[in-house]
Amino acid sequence: MKLEQNYSLKQYNTFRLQVKTRWFMEYDSEEELLKILQDEYFQENCSLHIGTGSNLLFLNDFNGIILHSAIKGISLERETDEFVFLRIGASELWDNVVAYAVKKGWGGIENLSLIPGETGAAAVQNIGAYGVEIKDVVECIETYNQLTFEKKLFSKEACKYGYRKSIFKDEHSDPHIITYVNIRLAKQPSFLLEYGDLKKYLVSEREPTLADVREAVIAVRKSKLPDPAELGNAGSFFMNPIVLYSKFEDLKNKFGEFPHYKVSEIEFKIPAAWLIEQCGLKGKWHGEVGISEKQALIIVNKGGATGHEIALFAESVRNIVNDKFGIELVPEVKYIG
Ligand SMILES: Cc1cc2nc3c(=O)[nH]c(=O)nc-3n(C[C@H](O)[C@H](O)[C@H](O)COP(=O)(O)OP(=O)(O)OC[C@H]3O[C@@H](n4cnc5c(N)ncnc54)[C@H](O)[C@@H]3O)c2cc1C
Repeated sequence: MKLEQNYSLKQYNTFRLQVKTRWFMEYDSEEELLKILQDEYFQENCSLHIGTGSNLLFLNDFNGIILHSAIKGISLERETDEFVFLRIGASELWDNVVAYAVKKGWGGIENLSLIPGETGAAAVQNIGAYGVEIKDVVECIETYNQLTFEKKLFSKEACKYGYRKSIFKDEHSDPHIITYVNIRLAKQPSFLLEYGDLKKYLVSEREPTLADVREAVIAVRKSKLPDPAELGNAGSFFMNPIVLYSKFEDLKNKFGEFPHYKVSEIEFKIPAAWLIEQCGLKGKWHGEVGISEKQALIIVNKGGATGHEIALFAESVRNIVNDKFGIELVPEVKYIG
């Protein structure tokens, strides 16, 4: 187990903010986690379990205990003629899992290539890209209840997955710490290539392989998203809003045709990037904070911004979009502090 005091979180948040935590604890096994959860000092202090911090915005130093898993590993639990079943340690980097699956020839997650973060967090967030979400392959999630210390397995249905939503994000249910994620992958992959510019990047004439698709996804992402190693960011800052039919019609009358995705007969998802771009905010800066020139949904830190400055900037973006379209953007990024 690792225990550090006044520990810098610069490597644990992709905005690259210079924040510290009073305590940083990292456990290697479920047994160690259980000991921490049952510790009186731990229970008396506020705590937060993090992955790599690629979806977090620290507003201040963290005056409590940051908990981090070091449980890694990908094991093949069983297989059938059609599927393989993998058990993955929560702190395994998600993109390593995708690379491993692609190398083995197992399909289902190749469209989720290059998404930053750990596998446990991926299951919390229900990460998604190019028409695929992790929920599509989840079999069950292994967790510990932070209050009762019991181990509990959540089936895919019990995870209550939705767009960037799961029971693990629900403030009204008991906090659960994910230790392992179990997924099912196909031995005969079928590809989903209709989203984004994927087809444009599939250069070969022949039938694409898993490796081709992964390569195309990586190429599209690199062309469209700023790299947090160069420019601090947390990916999409806001969720894509879902509006009702009446609002959708109202917007069409005012602004003409615009990109959208039909969620149901009465609900339409609108790209938040489009809304922000229409407000003329793409590439705009205020001091050290700005909107990426590559992608209007990404708020970036040139290097010297504080969490507060980023939050204030995000608030001004929300206000401008709300004034123009009457739509309240909801942050996808989690504010801490
Ligand atoms: C450049 C960039 C591109 C991105 N692209 C995408 C994308 O295409 N699609 C997408 O969906 N997301 C995307 N993201 C967002 C981010 O990668 C995901 O949300 C990712 O799953 C976060 O992983 P993390 O390990 O960094 O988690 P963190 O940000 O550290 O934590 C995220 C949440 O998970 C909780 N958590 C972490 N570990 C555990 C655990 N073991 N048990 C319980 N709770 C836990 C935390 O408390 C927090 O609520 C992008 C981010 C960046 C920076």
